[in-house]
Amino acid sequence: MQGYTRRDILQMGALLGAGMGLAGKQSEILAGGLEKILSKQVKVVWLQGLSCTGCSVSFLNSDVPGPLEILTEIISLVYHSNVSAAQGHLVMDVLDQATADGDFFLVFEGAIPRNMPEACVIGGRPLVDLLPPMLKSAQGIIAAGTCSSFGGIPAAEGNPTAAVGLRQFMQDEGIPVKNRLINCPGCPVHPQSLLGTLAYVLAAGYPKVHPDRLTPDLFYKHSVHDDCPRFHSWEKREFAEKFGDEGCLFQLGCLGPRSHTSCPKRQWNGGINWCIRAGAPCIGCTSEDFALHRDFPFYRKGEQYHQVAYLEDDRKGTQS
Ligand code: SF4
Ligand code: SF4
Repeated sequence: MQGYTRRDILQMGALLGAGMGLAGKQSEILAGGLEKILSKQVKVVWLQGLSCTGCSVSFLNSDVPGPLEILTEIISLVYHSNVSAAQGHLVMDVLDQATADGDFFLVFEGAIPRNMPEACVIGGRPLVDLLPPMLKSAQGIIAAGTCSSFGGIPAAEGNPTAAVGLRQFMQDEGIPVKNRLINCPGCPVHPQSLLGTLAYVLAAGYPKVHPDRLTPDLFYKHSVHDDCPRFHSWEKREFAEKFGDEGCLFQLGCLGPRSHTSCPKRQWNGGINWCIRAGAPCIGCTSEDFALHRDFPFYRKGEQYHQVAYLEDDRKGTQS
């Protein structure tokens, strides 16, 4: 295991769990999954569709468990288009072998161009042809990022590719989704959410997910709004009127009430900062309709858009 002791791995699990505010038992489960990853008991194939590669970059900048070399060793076990050395037919041989053996987990980044197969070709094969057999034979599938989970920016209204997210694609192809596909949205996905989900699945099987979003409760149960440090301002209806003001950012277009993820707890870049702490409204990057519609608001002033969809009764406090 590249010189890592059991103690190191338990510590990584604890750090990973602590960053997400998870209880000790869950951290132990994450450590068990990390152990499997590091001992190379599990093959991981990472494929990219229509994407900016931001989720790969985010993952490769993970600070927990730590060094880049661990992560490159983890995800290059079989294939990753950015960090694998293999090219051309060698790649296709590797992917074909994995598909035939069915002993791998698939991490998929990006959306799938339904109506324009030539928009995404891997090793000379259109993704729309390559993907179905891999989705059928994979032991489990993680959609990394919002494009893969819900379509995201490549699927924005008016795009000529008719891009879709993984769930939609699997349903259209008649490939079973239940207890197989897990969505880890985010633009990009946070590395801890992705690595933690992968570790959990390897250690304990399919996690508890939201019934509609298919997001794991461990990392996506609460909205940004639920745990926001500016929530007291929301309750007092003290709203910022311009960037840089104190107060809740709702009237500057904050979509924290509609975006479910753990940003307020683990923040970004090793816990240094995150959108709202930096004074920027949450743009809802983990939400199901992120960037899909022409009128999706990035920093739009006013409350009209999210008044429609946000119910205060949905808050954690009244739910549980
Ligand atoms: S609307 Fe935004 S800034 Fe205001 S409390 Fe909710 S998440 Fe925080
Ligand atoms: S605060 Fe909102 S926009 Fe920022 S990373 Fe988190 S979910 Fe995405």
